[in-house]
Amino acid sequence: MLWIAGFLLLAGLVLIWVSHRRRTAAGLPPGRVIYIDTTGLGRLEQALYDPHTDLTGRPDYLVRKGGTIIPVEVKSGRAPAVPYPSHVHQIAAYCLLVEATQGVRPPYGVIRYANRAYAVDYTPALKEGLLETLAEMRRAERHLPDRSHDSPARCRACGYREVCDQPLD
Ligand code: SF4
Repeated sequence: MLWIAGFLLLAGLVLIWVSHRRRTAAGLPPGRVIYIDTTGLGRLEQALYDPHTDLTGRPDYLVRKGGTIIPVEVKSGRAPAVPYPSHVHQIAAYCLLVEATQGVRPPYGVIRYANRAYAVDYTPALKEGLLETLAEMRRAERHLPDRSHDSPARCRACGYREVCDQPLD
């Protein structure tokens, strides 16, 4: 069992590293600071579902801006220097769900931390990286072991967070 957990951890780190390399190679910023006002907005009640990728998720808000819809995810903690890779994956997944269910491709998604918000561009490279990561995770998810730690930081950096049923915030 230990070697399986070790392998999955290593695979997760490799996926995060590959994703980061792709972003860097494509010259993409990990996120730019923006201002977003969510006062007066109702939280999304229903989860979004894309049958093509079998992906389900519920962003905290969908904000209409011009002819587009921007997903917004709210995090209670203070902002890191750049958004955590798992948060970037999460907002990319919400962008994909908005694209699939609302028929409009969001130009970016927003991660709003307690003290700062980042816009993460939903580029073709980010979408491609997400789809590849999803395919890898689908292959691996059948073998995920039970969580063996109480470290939220470890879960935040984990490439399997989107499919894991035991993540810590
Ligand atoms: S999200 Fe956390 S509990 Fe789930 S696989 Fe990753 S590290 Fe383990």
